[in-house]
Amino acid sequence: MKEDYYEILGLTKGASSAEIKKAYRKMAIKYHPDKNPGDAKAEEMFKKAAEAYEVLGNEEKKARYDRYGHQAFEGGGFGGGAGGMNMDDIFSQFGDIFGGGFGGGFSGFGGGFGGGQRRTKGSNLRIRVSLSLEEIANGVEKKIKVKRKVQAPGTTYKTCSTCNGTGQVTRVTNTILGRMQTASPCNVCGGSGQTIDKKPENADVHGLITKEETVSIKIPAGVEDGMQLKVAGKGNDAPGNGVPGDLLVAIDEKEHASLQREGDNLHYDLYISYSEAALGSSREIDTVSGKVRIKIDEGVQSGKILRLRGKGISNLNGYGKGDLLVHVNVWTPKTLNKEQREFFEKMANDDNFQPNPEKSDKSFFEKVKDMFS
Ligand code: ZN
Repeated sequence: MKEDYYEILGLTKGASSAEIKKAYRKMAIKYHPDKNPGDAKAEEMFKKAAEAYEVLGNEEKKARYDRYGHQAFEGGGFGGGAGGMNMDDIFSQFGDIFGGGFGGGFSGFGGGFGGGQRRTKGSNLRIRVSLSLEEIANGVEKKIKVKRKVQAPGTTYKTCSTCNGTGQVTRVTNTILGRMQTASPCNVCGGSGQTIDKKPENADVHGLITKEETVSIKIPAGVEDGMQLKVAGKGNDAPGNGVPGDLLVAIDEKEHASLQREGDNLHYDLYISYSEAALGSSREIDTVSGKVRIKIDEGVQSGKILRLRGKGISNLNGYGKGDLLVHVNVWTPKTLNKEQREFFEKMANDDNFQPNPEKSDKSFFEKVKDMFS
């Protein structure tokens, strides 16, 4: 009998999607083949966990599983459950678990696990995606046209006769130290163990053709300029039974007309007139989620920072949202007419016009201290 998916992940039915994700992440790290080379038991656990997550990590499949159990995926009527997952499927699943693979916790699984035949990996593709601050703040899904090399329909491969499909050639040479055996990648098949049997005219020497494909890329909120996301398996195909390379997506952050980013916080320079400062006002300002009206108290000082909590960027690692800091700048008139000049001259010695920082808002330095506390 098939094991319960919740039990495999150490959970009970009713676990939240965050708990499921967390549990799977833990298991994937623990039983990762890179960490447990040659350990068949670990590999089995790794596969089981992946299979469980393939179902429980998907809203629709989970609902079906909760209702019908394993039966939900038998008979193939539902477009497949998870039974036949291979390692490549599992690794391509990591995209959403490890947040797109920033910096890549797992590298070098291109070839060679599982103890079987060595598999070649297609080359990676690189693209650049330009994002507005609004898109970065809330996360976005981008559909991007990518020109990938894919195996041409009608291409067939056969076992390389030079290396008998092992991808390696061993040579024995007699040296003064005795017989030495050296292994090197087969240069006929490039190490893949396969060569082309038949291919259509338009395919290249590896049996590949270029095809334009629309790839949907989920960009999590909080990414930064220069970061690189990895979409596993969306690079170029490898010939034969190789695995496709990855699509590497470099993030480009477009400059915003009025908001400046600093980590997860945003800054906005607000200019108000003398009159607004003295009398109070309300002003509309830009945020990453549309315009917001803010109140300016009468008697506001130039340099005051108004903090709009949670109006910044969502943190990439899920630590909440940054703030929007509105910097108040009081605009001093550069020219005065006669009437205005007389007014200010009259006020020159008025008590209300005398600076009195102790009574007023916090000083600039106190505000800076606040910002970092
Ligand atoms: Zn070969």
